[in-house]
Order: sequence, then structure tokens, then C-alpha cells
Amino acid sequence: MRHAQPTTAERARAARREHAVFLDKDGTLIENVPYSPDPALVALTPGAGPALRCLGERGFRLIVVSNQAGGANGWFAERALRAVELRIAELLAPCGVAIEAFYYCVHSEEAGCSCRTPRPGLLRRASAELGIALPASWLVGDTLDDVEAAHRAGCRAALIMNGNETGWRYGTLRVPDVAALSLEEAASQIVAAGDTSHLAAEGTDELEGRH
Ligand SMILES: [Mg+2]
Ligand SMILES: [Zn+2]
Repeated sequence: MRHAQPTTAERARAARREHAVFLDKDGTLIENVPYSPDPALVALTPGAGPALRCLGERGFRLIVVSNQAGGANGWFAERALRAVELRIAELLAPCGVAIEAFYYCVHSEEAGCSCRTPRPGLLRRASAELGIALPASWLVGDTLDDVEAAHRAGCRAALIMNGNETGWRYGTLRVPDVAALSLEEAASQIVAAGDTSHLAAEGTDELEGRH
């Protein structure tokens, strides 16, 4: 969908808030339960609400990025995802925070798409569509693939050490900028790190080109 040219006020607003925290969904924002379409089973991870409020107060836009391979194709699966999004919104509302957008990779690993983590396609798409500066942004995830996707997109990465990473395959792009035991601790560290986007390397965003 094409949008009309933004007004001056919209431009100013976008310029003030072009930094985001991208959130992995399963295991980071909500508890990692085996795939179920039942929104009643959705539970935020401990401290998620206050953590996101803290980030929101600092002007970070909150965007979920998630691999949903095998679960998201078809009408029922789409509806199930929407139901989970609504449940997340309900759970976060008392904390006064909202997720601005949900981005999903619905492809299987074999499909070789550009958006399944550790590839950075979802982050690039969100950046292009929502006007987000990737070097000023962070991704919080619970696996080293999340960390690699962040770095490939030129974001910084916070890793939550909650036991969901089991392979520990290291690489130069897979070393987190911040490691924390919870989303709340990750949020504090992100806020404490401040804006160092002027130090960010330009090159990583161009690794695989834009789509
Ligand atoms: Mg995860
Ligand atoms: Zn994909």
C-alpha cells in the first residue's frame, strides 16, 4: 500500500521516534509453549509489562518479529495469530504499553527466504515500512539466531539467557551486545547503553540487499 507524502508534523514525529526495540515473540515476550492456537494459553514472560513500559517511556517503538513456520499459512492460522496478538494487547494494556506491529516469517527453513532468522528480512521490512533507523534500534531475543539477525540488519542485540538457546553455535555476528536473565533486565541494560548509533557500522545492513 502506498501512502501520501507525510506532512511536516508527521516527519518531525517520525524523526523523534525512529528507534525501536524489536522483540522475539516465543520465549522472549511470551512463554514458550508448544504451538497452540488457544490465546488463553498465552502468558507474558515475567516482568515483560514493566520492561516494555520502561522502553516505551524512553521513546522506543515496540515491534514483534517472529518465525512462525508451518503455523501461519492459511486462514485458520492467520486468525490464530491475530487472536494471540489481541491477547498480548490485552495482557499489556494494564501496563500502558502496546505493540505497534507484528512481523512474521511464515516460511519453512527449506524455503530459503530472506526473513527467517538468522536472516534480517523482517527487520529490514519493518524499518522500511515504519521508518525505523536500524542502527539506533535493538532486538531482544532468546537465541543466537535472533542475535545474528539483529547484527545482520545493523541493530544491536540483547540476549535473554533463559535456557531456550541450546546449540550455542558462535560466530562473529552471534555475540550479543547485552546478555540478561529477563526481559526486564535486558530493558534496563538497553536504556543504560544509551544511543551509540553514531558508532554503528554502516556495512552490515547491506549484506543481503533490500527486498
Ligand atoms: Mg524465541
Ligand atoms: Zn521468511
